Amino acid sequence: MITCTVLDNIPNIHKADSHNTVILYPGGENYEILQQVIKLLISELHSLAVNGLEDSSGIKWKVQFYFSSDWKFMAIILGFNAPNANFFCPWCLCTKNDIGNKSNVYRIEKDMDQLKDEFFNNSTSTLPPGHTKPPLLPMIPLNHYVPDKLHIMLRIWDRLWELVIQELKSENRYNTHTRAIISMEIKRISVGFHFWPDHSMQSWSYTPLMGGDKEKVLRDFNFDVIFSEERAILITRLWRDFHSLYKLMNDQKTDSTFFAAQARKWFNLFLILHQSEPNTLSFKKGLYRPKDVTPYIHVLINHIPEFIELHQRFGFAAFSCAAVEKKNHDQVSIFFRKTMKDGGKGTDRKSAIFEILSYENRLLYFAQKSNSDQVYKPQYFHIKENVEF
Ligand SMILES: [Zn+2]
Repeated sequence: MITCTVLDNIPNIHKADSHNTVILYPGGENYEILQQVIKLLISELHSLAVNGLEDSSGIKWKVQFYFSSDWKFMAIILGFNAPNANFFCPWCLCTKNDIGNKSNVYRIEKDMDQLKDEFFNNSTSTLPPGHTKPPLLPMIPLNHYVPDKLHIMLRIWDRLWELVIQELKSENRYNTHTRAIISMEIKRISVGFHFWPDHSMQSWSYTPLMGGDKEKVLRDFNFDVIFSEERAILITRLWRDFHSLYKLMNDQKTDSTFFAAQARKWFNLFLILHQSEPNTLSFKKGLYRPKDVTPYIHVLINHIPEFIELHQRFGFAAFSCAAVEKKNHDQVSIFFRKTMKDGGKGTDRKSAIFEILSYENRLLYFAQKSNSDQVYKPQYFHIKENVEF
């Protein structure tokens, strides 16, 4: 699904209804399909970028575009390679080898002109590494491709959780007893959760958690139940501090320099080394290794402060995809309640996508019409009789 919204409409930006569906298709998410699917959108955006938008009173509006999505979709739109490649970052030239280097600071160093000119001039020799196809939406400047805070939280949460499970496994403690304790602790903080054996993978699966539930675990999970006191203190700090960063991303008043300092502190904690030799009394176990750092962590530490600074006018949270996730949920329920689910016979047969988009268009039409041509709704009057005794 591709939606569009007006960023200046800040008070309503988090509502699913403020996001209008412009593309909805059931196919796979890859460059070739998307190139076909968004062909008309590309030419319309190009024309808007060049000519602006003239409203009914003759005023010409200049339009600036911004883009936000999860990593995979953004990489496809940019014609950029997969995040496991050596050059993994859409904004800078950091390599996989340097992703966990604490002393390096990265800023946005590529730009869209560089990407599109190289392709349109047909000389791919000086393209930044990793850019293998022409960007699909070249009218949007690269520093307007803003990562989505929801996916940053979800994916970094996944990594932190995986590292906790890995540690339990390495200590041979990932057993029925520990899993029962974890399930109980997550239930204690009012999140439905359980483990079950995945026979095909010979491992254990667990309930996938939604954003709100992951945030609860981030804020309230008590690591004392599975780790020693000292270890629990360290891991709890890492989880709570990440939650604080998430809250800062949500707050329009967040100062970018402050965020940069807090994020850097968190990064240093994530990478804190062991102290003294193992099996000695003064040994203190550290946390994680540079190779445990993921592309999303790289973006959080290096690029989010810059995006907060660049787009303070809207606030970084305005670029969240949460409203679009909600919209997706709404469309699934429209599919079940208001469409024939791709069914029907002969000429009555209609695509459910067509029906969903028609439904949304009708809502949009009446929402606009009610502004210009108000129809008064019937009013109810309650008439009381005066009863004399
Ligand atoms: Zn980068």
